[in-house]
Amino acid sequence: MSRFAVGGFLHETNTFAPGKTGFTDFTLVTGDDSGLKTGAEILEFRKREMNVGPSGFIRKAEASGHEVVPLVWTSAQPSGTVTDEAFNRIMDLLLAALAANGPYDGVFLDLHGAMVVESYEDPETEIGRRVRQVIRDTPLVAALDLHGNITQECVDVFSGLVGYRTYPHVDIYETGERCAVMLDYLVQHPPLKKAFRKLPILLAPSMMSTMTEPCLSIYPVLEGLEKDAGVFSATIMHGFLPSDIAQVGPSVWAYAADQQDADRAADALEKALLDHEAELKLNLLQPDEAVRQAIQKSAHTEKPVILADVQDNPGGGGTSDTVWILEALVRQNAPDTALGLMYDPAAAAVAHAAGEGAQITLDLGGKGMPGHKPFHGAFTVEKVTSGNFELTGPMNRGIVANLGKMAQLRTGNVRVVVVSGRTQANDQAYFRRVGVDPTKMKILVLKSTNHYRADFQPIASEILVVDAPGAIIEDPAKIPYTRIRSGVRK
Ligand SMILES: [Zn+2]
Repeated sequence: MSRFAVGGFLHETNTFAPGKTGFTDFTLVTGDDSGLKTGAEILEFRKREMNVGPSGFIRKAEASGHEVVPLVWTSAQPSGTVTDEAFNRIMDLLLAALAANGPYDGVFLDLHGAMVVESYEDPETEIGRRVRQVIRDTPLVAALDLHGNITQECVDVFSGLVGYRTYPHVDIYETGERCAVMLDYLVQHPPLKKAFRKLPILLAPSMMSTMTEPCLSIYPVLEGLEKDAGVFSATIMHGFLPSDIAQVGPSVWAYAADQQDADRAADALEKALLDHEAELKLNLLQPDEAVRQAIQKSAHTEKPVILADVQDNPGGGGTSDTVWILEALVRQNAPDTALGLMYDPAAAAVAHAAGEGAQITLDLGGKGMPGHKPFHGAFTVEKVTSGNFELTGPMNRGIVANLGKMAQLRTGNVRVVVVSGRTQANDQAYFRRVGVDPTKMKILVLKSTNHYRADFQPIASEILVVDAPGAIIEDPAKIPYTRIRSGVRK
């Protein structure tokens, strides 16, 4: 039996998003039921087989007869650069728990890979270094989101890094399980050899769903390598574009007992991605053109046409309140449409005060982005409700929404799902909660880049990706980087 410590510190930082991310953003979380957890609260993750890393790790480790020692775990919604104060306070909590509960045979950390802190472009490496000061050479394994901007230094400091391999991320739980298997191995064997390759390209996320090509062709290469006796674990990291740092972008790596096997696997993954570079060109539609096409296409099908508002995705640091597509829908008198999630706590409060059935005039959304303006219009309050309920989509297994006051506001045929906590429209439950059956709509507008696909692609006739301005810039060629390393193709 081994003794494994479990901690976590996750943030996906959009350095172009307005504002900084502070300590309370990690403790007073809205959107879901994450936030700062300690001790027994971390063990709670295993209960509902939640689709989070510690859930899979703890269940797998305990099933193998190991003892799990919970430390500190926290995650904030994606947003602007993390302050030094927040980073240091959370690290101090994590390191104090680590020092107080040792010794350990291994340590598991649940990380993201795309955090940026005021003083650290690569804070995951700094997390690893600080943890190493306590645990020295003890095996240290971390789970990563597949959107990490990972560096050679990060691979060097950890004994093992294991990334998700689905986008939408339906395998976060399984990633935790893989980490448990790896840590178990490392306790009994010499350190694994590593091979890391940073790629000279950038990948637009709307092109990189693992439910569509070219990823459907790329990921079997990874699975094939792991079936190979020599390769223990391999990862493809897409990178996270809205991050003005030198090491932004995709990478691949592999672990094996033999250095030659690790190198061969990393080279094969690098080639698999570069072979598809030409297919990764974007096809974005301006809001009015996207709505025009959606109206036309929806006339010939029973299933809704989805407009993906990819650049206002709160899951990438978007404000989730831009109204460009809403304006185009109203301008063109769109047929039955639902749009979500619109983050506007003030509008939700007005709707709750007015009550269901009331007619209200509002300035809706448009408040988060400098220079943007709200949508001014008359709405019917169709539904008001609380935002605490269990989600049902494949990405959100076991996760409870925490969205404060919610409302469905209707103008013409357009229903807007208004929330008081920022989160991504990746689950049909958000719509059903306010009385909208998404399968009955002609058009669905989703503020999400790709995660919506897990629950919505099966009910949609077609998906159009929209180029409405937001805190995210989808086309890598248009992102105003100042710190990116030389030699990267955009
Ligand atoms: Zn991700």
